[in-house]
Amino acid sequence: MERDIDRILLSREQIHERVRAMARDIAKVYEGSDAGLTIVPVLSGSIIFLADLIRELPLKMKIALLQLSSYRGATTEGAEIRTVLDLVGDVAGRHVLIVDDILDSGRTIRHVQKRIWAKGPASVRTAVLLRKPDRAPPDIRVEHIGFDIEDAFVVGYGLDYDDHYRNYPHIGVLKPEVLLVGQD
Ligand code: 5GP
Ligand code: MG
Repeated sequence: MERDIDRILLSREQIHERVRAMARDIAKVYEGSDAGLTIVPVLSGSIIFLADLIRELPLKMKIALLQLSSYRGATTEGAEIRTVLDLVGDVAGRHVLIVDDILDSGRTIRHVQKRIWAKGPASVRTAVLLRKPDRAPPDIRVEHIGFDIEDAFVVGYGLDYDDHYRNYPHIGVLKPEVLLVGQD
C-alpha cells in the first residue's frame, strides 16, 4: 500500500489536530440547542473522519447512515449519483450535520443537502474534511471545512481508489502509474 503513494499531503498528526479544532467549532454551534442532533455521514469515504470527529463531540447525538456512489475509480466527472443505502435514521425535526470526506465538484453535497431538507429537519449544516477550492462551486454552502487542497486525486483516511487505501492513515497522492494500471 505504502509504495503506491507518491507523497503525503496531510499527515495523520495534522489531520488529528484539525479534526479536534473542527469539533470544538461544531460543539459550540449545537451546545444548548433544544432539538436533537443527527449526524448524517455520507458513506463510505467519511468513515474515518466520522469516527474521529464524533468522539471529539461531547454532545448527545444520533447517527443516520446514507451511502451513495457516484464515482468509478479515479474519474471525478460525470456518473450519476446512486443510492446504495437510503437514509437510515431520524432526521425530521432534528438538527442535521452532514459529514463527508471531500467537496470536489459539489454534486454529492448538493444532492444530500436537498434530500435532507425534504425530510423537514430543524436545521442542516455540512462538515467536510477536504475541499478542492479550484473545483468547488462558490454557491454551495458548507459551514465546516478541514483543509483546502490542490486539485489532485487523494487517498487515505477513508478516501479510496477502487475501494483500496481507506485504511492509509495519512492523506496522500497516488503515484500516477497506479492510477493508470489499476490495482488489486
Ligand atoms: P463531488 O460530488 O463533490 O464531485 O465529489 C464528492 C465525492 O467524490 C467524495 O465524497 C469522494 O467520494 C469523491 N472524490 C472526489 N475527489 C476525490 C479524491 O481526490 N479522492 C478520492 N478518493 N475521492 C474523491
Ligand atoms: Mg464520498
